[in-house]
Amino acid sequence: MSGSRATRIDLSVVAPAYNERDNLAPLVEEVRAVLDGTCLDYEVLFVDDGSTDGSDRVLRDLRAADPRVRVVTLARKAGQSAAMDAGFRRARGDVIVTLDADLQNDPADIPRLLAALGGWDAVVGVRVHRRDTLVRRASSRVANYVRNRISDETIVDTGCSLKAYRRAALTSIALYDGMHRFLPTLLRMEGFRVCEVPVGHRPRRHGRSKYGIGNRLVPSFLDLLAVRWMKRRKLRYEVKDDS
Ligand code: UDP
Ligand code: MG
Repeated sequence: MSGSRATRIDLSVVAPAYNERDNLAPLVEEVRAVLDGTCLDYEVLFVDDGSTDGSDRVLRDLRAADPRVRVVTLARKAGQSAAMDAGFRRARGDVIVTLDADLQNDPADIPRLLAALGGWDAVVGVRVHRRDTLVRRASSRVANYVRNRISDETIVDTGCSLKAYRRAALTSIALYDGMHRFLPTLLRMEGFRVCEVPVGHRPRRHGRSKYGIGNRLVPSFLDLLAVRWMKRRKLRYEVKDDS
């Protein structure tokens, strides 16, 4: 792994980005505005998931202007889970905050997430006023309900990318494609403690959503069945004697 991993810092803000060119500079600006007022030693780690819209040039400039900006570039588009995994493995922060690179999550919520982390291993945002279309809000509500019913879970809004984790918890679980939606459940399965806090949400100003009913509904339902299977088939045993 890269030598820079040796240096531990307080916080890594990890943002997967696929074709988010016009959102990247404002995001860095907003994160700086929020975190420069704290005494936290932080980095903003973008994972470019094979963007084709010139994001690479913007990211190069951002990194050149501020050493706290780091860029991991995937050789080709590998999906949001893969991009997040690449970020988690390279993050130097003891705490990792994830958010979307599209400015829909508000960096102003980060201090509240960190404060809530206290005795927990992860804090999951709940978007109280979703700023998406009615179809999206409705399908997300149904998806969360079905997800919780089928996987015997209670997470209100697992689709919210704004989350804070202790890095040690995150790096102890294996991710599979699509599993970024089930991180709270995967963590709980390993005995980690997860809580939820309300966060804001904003409309997308630039670029387009990478998901629609077509590429989210069926894959995420199949992933849900896999998570249910994993949860049911998790090894549970107690050693009585080991002489
Ligand atoms: N993303 C990515 N690879 C993908 C799909 C999405 O890196 O294959 C990123 C995307 O650029 C954004 C975040 O993941 O930063 C969430 O995607 P999006 O905003 O399109 O999802 P939505 O908010 O519409 O559910
Ligand atoms: Mg979005």
